[in-house]
Amino acid sequence: MTGDPGKLSCAEFQAQLPELIGSGEDVASHPHVLGCDRCRALLAELETIAEAARQLFPSVEPPDEVWTQIESAIQREGK
Ligand SMILES: [Zn+2]
Repeated sequence: MTGDPGKLSCAEFQAQLPELIGSGEDVASHPHVLGCDRCRALLAELETIAEAARQLFPSVEPPDEVWTQIESAIQREGK
C-alpha cells in the first residue's frame, strides 16, 4: 500500500465512500471513480438512494439510517 489516492482498490474506495459523501466531497470527480466503471455505477445507485432520502425528509439532514442503508448497499455490492 502506497497511500496514493488514485490507486485505491474498489474495496478501499467503497470503505471511504460514506465518509467522502458525508463530507460534501465531489465524489464523482474522485480519481478512483473516474477510472472505475464499477464504482461509477455504484455511485449512481447511491445517489438515487440519497435523492430518495432527500424527498422523504426534505427539511432535515439525512438521518443516520440513510448512511446505514448506503453502507449496507455498498457491502452487498462488494460481494
Ligand atoms: Zn472501483
